[in-house]
Amino acid sequence: MTDYPTLTLNDDRQIPQLGFGTYKIEEDEAPQAVKTALDVGYWLVDTAAVYGNERVVGKGVGDWSDIFLQTKIWNESQGYDRTLKAADKCLERLGRDHVDMLLIHWPCPEKDLFVDTWKAFIELRDQGKAKSIGVSNFREQDLKRIIDETGVTPALNQIELHPSFQQRELRKVHDDLGIVTQSWSPLGQGEGLDAGAIKDIADETGQPTSAVVLRWHLQHGLVPIPKSTGRDHIEQNFAALAFELSDDQMARIDALDDAGGRMGPYPAEFNG
Ligand code: NDP
Repeated sequence: MTDYPTLTLNDDRQIPQLGFGTYKIEEDEAPQAVKTALDVGYWLVDTAAVYGNERVVGKGVGDWSDIFLQTKIWNESQGYDRTLKAADKCLERLGRDHVDMLLIHWPCPEKDLFVDTWKAFIELRDQGKAKSIGVSNFREQDLKRIIDETGVTPALNQIELHPSFQQRELRKVHDDLGIVTQSWSPLGQGEGLDAGAIKDIADETGQPTSAVVLRWHLQHGLVPIPKSTGRDHIEQNFAALAFELSDDQMARIDALDDAGGRMGPYPAEFNG
């Protein structure tokens, strides 16, 4: 992984710091989109059982055996036995005998099954089916509960995070617990790229607005996983690896934080 930034997880494995998201990439466009991303140079691909594209994402990744591939167990599969079975189905669809990172997609507090699900994840890691294990959309209390009840800390938490919703408190919790923060919707779903500060910094650096936003994630030690279907955008996003923002530019993006900027569901309420 020459010149590709990586972070060290709490299980001592390395994770590439820029990834490629595949939510809403349809079955027919996924192989080409993933292939383009790998051609451009991405080393991490994120999918999920619920995206319905694991089979084609697996095909797109094909023989690139050293790509960091991650998937997520959907809410209806929570619980010890169901999770073990669901993970096998993910692997079958992906055409692999293991993934690099397996995530619990949402905590679903009302179901109250995420501790049992986490115990199954520990088993799957012991079996080598998941090299690393983590969670997504977990709140501080959810993280603390699985750690208290199993003694195993997730390697990462994938959460909604973009300049207009920066999640500073949860990032601090992650730092204290030794959990890597992975940013979903890192571009704010493509909205917000027109914000004045972002456009100004794009002009100052001569970089695309999306690369400015992704560079901000990288310099904060986050792992953004932007999604795109077109080569132009995929290349623009990859440009984030090739320049730096000044402290002043970082501070101007920090100032865009908005407590009301959440775009996705609230983890406390999402139990679907
Ligand atoms: P993103 O913030 O990645 O934004 C994607 C949108 O931005 C698309 O409409 C895309 O359009 C557009 N876009 C991408 N690149 C550019 C560019 N250079 N210039 C202008 N527009 C651009 O949002 P997502 O919600 O897709 O999040 C990324 C990934 O995070 C998902 O694919 C998924 O893997 C993960 N995720 C995880 C969740 C979870 O609960 N754990 C929830 C949501 C997402 P186009 O395709 O035309 O380029």
